[in-house]
Amino acid sequence: MRFLILTRGRTLYSTRRLKEVARRRGHDVRLVDPHQCILSIGDAGPELVVEGVRMEQPDGVIARVGSSTSDMVINLLAHFEATGAACINAAEGVRLSRDKFRSLQELARHGLPIPRTVMTRDPDHLDDAIRSLGSLPVIIKTREGTQGVGVMKADSLSSARSIVHAMWAVEQTVILQEFIAESQGSDIRVFVVGDKVMGAMKRNANPGDFRSNLHRGGRAERITLSRETRDLAITAAEKLNLHVAGVDLLMSHRGPLITEVNPSPGLEGIEGVTGVDVARAIVRALEQL
Ligand code: ADP
Ligand code: MG
Repeated sequence: MRFLILTRGRTLYSTRRLKEVARRRGHDVRLVDPHQCILSIGDAGPELVVEGVRMEQPDGVIARVGSSTSDMVINLLAHFEATGAACINAAEGVRLSRDKFRSLQELARHGLPIPRTVMTRDPDHLDDAIRSLGSLPVIIKTREGTQGVGVMKADSLSSARSIVHAMWAVEQTVILQEFIAESQGSDIRVFVVGDKVMGAMKRNANPGDFRSNLHRGGRAERITLSRETRDLAITAAEKLNLHVAGVDLLMSHRGPLITEVNPSPGLEGIEGVTGVDVARAIVRALEQL
């Protein structure tokens, strides 16, 4: 089959692995940079031009999305879907899950457990919104951040207030969230492909940080999940329309809480820690789609 990988990072581990595995399985694989595409719509029908040349329709697409490229990527995915290609992940799921508030809203609507989370643009009642989270500290996040960038902790009402105002001043939408102290700087990344959990790892923050992202120096260890936690992660991916998802959980006194669902989770950490061939599972999922 003809597969296309949308990526800005040709040499990144995840891209290389997906390309190698797909080629090994006999597919024709092309890497495309979303910033080198021209999408056209109108009388002539949808058309995609890549580096000046009209592109032939692929059978399947894998999108590796970073936050900087996602608008273009989402529209490219919508183009591929409209023209009959299978996509991992499809436009709607990517759009929903990259927005930290919208995705939690969707998960909550389906009764899935999430931390108490608040969104507001009302400066007059910001203190009330912060207090409604229960206690200090509170977590403040930009709506579309990734890799721990844009996730802040405020220990007092006044620092929370000043962080939020600073973010508003640079036109950033923020969400406020209760701080789950009992997770002690750890979270759990569950890697879901289709209706299966491929593996899970516990990520521990660097001493002095509360963010456990591997990009922030967090260290990962393999863990085995309970049946309930596995089912929770699978359901979260399904409710956000994702075939492939990195579901992040914080272990709280009231059980696992979903903090975010990543539509383009990195492969290096999870493959390194678990030894599972996750790239192969993704390529096989695309073949089936
Ligand atoms: P990103 O998309 O940047 O990874 P996350 O929402 O996953 O953003 O937050 C990054 C990290 O910060 C998480 O992996 C976790 O370690 C920590 N964190 C996020 N939210 C909370 C919270 N409500 N309470 C405690 N720690 C949190
Ligand atoms: Mg995260």
